[in-house]
Amino acid sequence: MQMPIDLPNQILSAIRFVVGDVKAPLHEPVFWGNEWKYLKECLDTTYVSSIGNFVTKFESDLATFTGAKYAVAVVNGTAALHIALKLAGVQPTDEVLTPSLTFVATANAIIYCGASPHFVDSEEHSLGIDVGKLRLYLKENTEQVSGYCLNKLTGKIVRAIIPMHTFGHPGDIDGLIQISNEFNITIVEDAAESIGSKYNNRHTGTFGLMGTLSFNGNKTITTGGGGAILTNDKDLALRARHITTTAKVSNGWEFIHDEVGYNYRMPNLNAALGCAQLESLPAKLQAKRDLYNKYSSAFARLDKVKLLNEPKNCSSNFWLQTLLLEDENLPLRDSILELTNGAGIMTRPAWNLLHELRPFRTFPRMNLSTAKSLSTRLINIPSSSNLALKT
Ligand SMILES: *Cc1c(COP(=O)(O)O)cnc(C)c1O
Repeated sequence: MQMPIDLPNQILSAIRFVVGDVKAPLHEPVFWGNEWKYLKECLDTTYVSSIGNFVTKFESDLATFTGAKYAVAVVNGTAALHIALKLAGVQPTDEVLTPSLTFVATANAIIYCGASPHFVDSEEHSLGIDVGKLRLYLKENTEQVSGYCLNKLTGKIVRAIIPMHTFGHPGDIDGLIQISNEFNITIVEDAAESIGSKYNNRHTGTFGLMGTLSFNGNKTITTGGGGAILTNDKDLALRARHITTTAKVSNGWEFIHDEVGYNYRMPNLNAALGCAQLESLPAKLQAKRDLYNKYSSAFARLDKVKLLNEPKNCSSNFWLQTLLLEDENLPLRDSILELTNGAGIMTRPAWNLLHELRPFRTFPRMNLSTAKSLSTRLINIPSSSNLALKT
């Protein structure tokens, strides 16, 4: 008689084979370089707040690393998205397309602009927006009126689309650019999870009108809390810097603010951390790729789960390593989560789909069957940069 397959234990062993017999968080920050030195410099010089050399250095280092012409550092990734959408012209009566399978910040930023999120489906391969399905949906449900994309059902303008590069894997950017041109919808990329990830050798977050990054503590590099706006447009970059620094006009000692601005500027302390973190980003990216390769061999023996690889023509930062269960193993998902977490191996399911959360239930959406399926089959496993070094 064949033994019943004990998938939860097989998964636990595969992870243990890679990370060793230790407790493993999902993603912890690592400080391999000049973090202490730069932070001490802030304290020694008293430049701990919104003015300081590290903020400007961090912005220029970010621009160099990503290939974006400009980077504007802000207090977190959500604030970056808020300002990017505002500068993309998102108005209170607009709709903004966003995946339902994303972190809540993506939809929150749309609401901060007074606009409505309009939820679109994802695809299985990259976990990004399903461009084919979206095109059919837009053809059927929108019309072009004086250069705008009008939702026929709500009468609202579909102003922008926010592709999100899930767990670091770049979505179908070429497809999205076509959609953007075809339907007159502006792209603002949520690249919060994808620093270091490239599509056709170009950094994510640099394809749309603007892109945004996050440096929260659980991301690939961290500034404690932090974010940035990327753009190649000088005027947008200047506008972004202006309104994130309370729209203060530089004029001697006078307090002149020429519009309602935001206090979103990244403090020097956080930027100091960011400068050090950026220096070791290439090493972290290598370590995360090594970790993927180790998991890949460990999971090769399990044919009931798939370890997500980077999409074609892409180089992923492998922010969070991801398992995809087959439908037949869905009933085992909770026991997999229980067994691994109980053993000190932190694993997590995907986010609850946004259109199912209370604040977002009434907003428009297309059929979200793939997002639904993915959200029940996804499991993230320990992914910190230091894990590959431990064995
Ligand atoms: C982390 C993240 C953000 C931004 O989060 P902050 O905590 O505000 O920096 C935005 N979108 C996605 C998809 C994220 O994962």
